[in-house]
Amino acid sequence: PGSAPAAPAGTDTHCPYCALQCAMTLTPAPGSAEPAVTGRDFPTNRGGLCRKGWTSAALLGHPERLTAPLLRGPDGVHRPIGWTHALDLAAMKLAATRRLHGADAVGVFGGGALTNEKAYQLGKFARLALGTSRIDYNGRFCMSSAAAAGNRAFGVDRGLPFPVEDLDRARTILLLGSNVAETMPPFVQHLQGARAAGGLIVVDPRRTATADFTADGAGLHLQPVPATDLVLLLGLCHIVIHEGLADQEFLDSRTTGRHEVVRSVAQWWPERVQSVTGVPVHLLRETARLLSDGARSGGAYILTGRGVEQHADGTDTATAAINLALLLGLPGSANSGYGTLTGQGNGQGGREHGQKADQLPGYRKITDPAARAHVAKVWGVEPDDIPGPGLPAVELLGELGRSVRSFLIFGANVAVSAPNASKVVAGLRRLDFLVVCDFFMSETAREADLVLPVRQWAEEEGTMTNLEGRVLRRRAAVAAPARTRPELWIMAELARRLQAPSTFSDDPEAVFTELRAASAGGLADYSGIDYALLDSGAGAYWPYPAGSTGTPRLFTDAFAHPGGRAVLVPVSPAAAEPVRDALFAGSTLALVTGRLLEHYQSGAQTRRVPELAGAVPRALLLIHPLAAAARGIVDGGPVTIANARGTVRCTALHSTTVRTDTVFLPFHFPGEESANLLTGDAADPVSGMPEFKASSVAVTAGWAE
Ligand code: SF4
Repeated sequence: PGSAPAAPAGTDTHCPYCALQCAMTLTPAPGSAEPAVTGRDFPTNRGGLCRKGWTSAALLGHPERLTAPLLRGPDGVHRPIGWTHALDLAAMKLAATRRLHGADAVGVFGGGALTNEKAYQLGKFARLALGTSRIDYNGRFCMSSAAAAGNRAFGVDRGLPFPVEDLDRARTILLLGSNVAETMPPFVQHLQGARAAGGLIVVDPRRTATADFTADGAGLHLQPVPATDLVLLLGLCHIVIHEGLADQEFLDSRTTGRHEVVRSVAQWWPERVQSVTGVPVHLLRETARLLSDGARSGGAYILTGRGVEQHADGTDTATAAINLALLLGLPGSANSGYGTLTGQGNGQGGREHGQKADQLPGYRKITDPAARAHVAKVWGVEPDDIPGPGLPAVELLGELGRSVRSFLIFGANVAVSAPNASKVVAGLRRLDFLVVCDFFMSETAREADLVLPVRQWAEEEGTMTNLEGRVLRRRAAVAAPARTRPELWIMAELARRLQAPSTFSDDPEAVFTELRAASAGGLADYSGIDYALLDSGAGAYWPYPAGSTGTPRLFTDAFAHPGGRAVLVPVSPAAAEPVRDALFAGSTLALVTGRLLEHYQSGAQTRRVPELAGAVPRALLLIHPLAAAARGIVDGGPVTIANARGTVRCTALHSTTVRTDTVFLPFHFPGEESANLLTGDAADPVSGMPEFKASSVAVTAGWAE
């Protein structure tokens, strides 16, 4: 008798979507291009996946997959061409732009879904092969404000400066502006300890699925007026100081700047904060008490998400959250801390290795002469060969078709995801030459002169860095379509044609080895990490200098500023007023944008997954029944949302989860349902973060012409 055939071997990897980077195993399924997906035990997800993760294999072998380079003809139709033709043409056009208009006339845009290897190589490619300073990435729209706040308070920014499992034991968790129950459902298990202790506090203008977790004595839901988070946090700082809840010993021994902050929050007494935010004084006081109780026994954490960060005062709001954490003595203390919940899959690693306008690999400042000398040596060039700082994403996109004449986009769908999207599309159409690398014909790819088909997460090797600053292996589990190519190969081929003054490997492990050298000695030091270490399953948290065992917990002994102290920075809501829409003028409502369980970012991927598209095929505007009645808007009926920037037509859904002065629209949908037709491109002056979460809109029944 023969033995049963061996089961096909599975490949251990991680989900293609968000920064939780849930572990999964992909196993070949006989007769199907889609491998079977199983959740794998891992600290962030413990075997769980969300609906997006379970269905992610539907992206592989998808019938709409791009499988050949496409060149747009004079008639506007994209037609397949060969790779040699595509790359020769791209190199010729880019070189011509550089010759005619200067190196900074070529721009590059990256993404927070690119692996560390690609993000690193893209920064090097832009600066050496193209000689341009004009590179930035879509992470600027994601959490740049929290990153800026972390840098000025702690001297370094790592999303969670502690392993996510530390949260399990907390007695109090203050979660500001993050609907994790929909955006990263397996994360919810890490809130259960605080729920059981009655200490989960959710701040959100909407009564989200996450806010519902605070019901039945599990905690508090604070539902502020949109765009008043900063005032809310100043009020909490005021209460902590005036009710004697601050940790004086911690402030004395580990911080500077407290006296300025004490003065700056003195005017934000609870009654005044209630009048601005709408949050009752007793909830403000109860929040401060729960945080203090947690800090004194059991542990307390303050976590911020996009809801409070994606504002024109995002850096100051995140700073106020950090000030509150510092007043309570949380950062760097055992069982307590502050963190920001990174959104994109490699939002963390993507901002460490050089695709940001102002940074070089290892989280180095591009203006720092020592950093430039170190990286130049690794790249085999002179420091002066590396251009200086470029423009943050919103400014860069504003230059399209103006000072920037040719543009390359790797892994971003800016036609849907950027603020004031119709202005961005107009810029794309003004360009002399646009190249988009993607695996689907995204709304941005449709605007391109040349579309280059690339590989997906389960078709290639690489590394990602999750929301904990933990470096992970991504592994090839299935064969890629024959005529697709990896981005590393595309960059290497273009660099060769452009006679770049350095070498560009297309081997992920070789690029990672170079990244390690470039990052050595920087804040995000990866020099002690290699593929073999990651394959062993070890938890590799940066900084991980060669010879060390990494750093699961930052700040236990010192913060990263010279002298080792954290800095409290006084902030004020006045700074955002000149650039922000005046909310609630006349009969306007405040538009809050955000994510749904079923979709991810611009939806270019999840709108193509049948189960997810079937569950939520179109954008629905959440509007309170009272606000809807005042405008004659029926449940399930047509609705128009408009402001000076654009007009959206979609379907209304009555819901008491939103405030009567607020509407909510998801940003995953294109065309006339695109929420970013309405959002503004005025940006936070510190970080370049646009105002995604509070736009003034008129909402009317029917579909206006
Ligand atoms: Fe993927 Fe994020 Fe869902 Fe986990 S929570 S399965 S990483 S989308």
